[in-house]
Amino acid sequence: MGDQSGTVRVIAIDGPGGSGKSTVAKLVAQKTGLPYLDTGAMYRAVTFGVLQRGVDPTDWSVIDEILPQIDLDLSATTVMVDGADATEAIRGNEVTAHVSEVSANPTVRHAMVELQREWIRKSAGGVLEGRDIGTVVVPNAALKVYLTASGRERARRRALEAGLDIEEVEADLARRDKADSERSESPLRPAEDAVIVDTTGYEITQVVDRIVALAHERGLL
Ligand code: C5P
Repeated sequence: MGDQSGTVRVIAIDGPGGSGKSTVAKLVAQKTGLPYLDTGAMYRAVTFGVLQRGVDPTDWSVIDEILPQIDLDLSATTVMVDGADATEAIRGNEVTAHVSEVSANPTVRHAMVELQREWIRKSAGGVLEGRDIGTVVVPNAALKVYLTASGRERARRRALEAGLDIEEVEADLARRDKADSERSESPLRPAEDAVIVDTTGYEITQVVDRIVALAHERGLL
């Protein structure tokens, strides 16, 4: 999977919630023909499995024990947890409220990173979207992008998408940003060699075109 330059054919797209990551990453995958993996959906799916079992999302030792029992099956369009369709539930309030707690657990992170690396090996590269792709999962990705936008702009986009109140969304994003950035295990931060793209005031298509152009420059396409 590595080439002569020692890099892998991966476009890593990291950034906080509401930065436009999901929309941008999916479109970049479509335009480049590379397969796409939403790693946030994996952490959400584990959180759903934890909550379904009535386990306290902050109790790491119990989660470490039950983690191997949670059966995850992610395709391009659906997320199955323990054989049931959880595609919608993983985006619900319950999972959103607890996902940062579950994703701070080192055992959960190691298991997810392993699955993500296995996915990269099988698909011979791809577009991966998350919080730690450039820093931890694929440090030798051929292209790392860190998307940002102002807090207000991120809340506005999420609120519009989900039909929610902008103030509430802004508070929730701020809470998750803080938890994700301050955790000891793989905190959210840009990789040193990431291209930082502030999407405030830009159209999605402009951001996508910029990333595809960078992918061409890096010889990825
Ligand atoms: O991207 P999304 O909002 O769906 O991610 C949900 C949560 O999953 C994040 O708030 C973060 O706690 C966690 N996450 C993570 N590492 C990733 C992707 C997501 O810790 N690579």
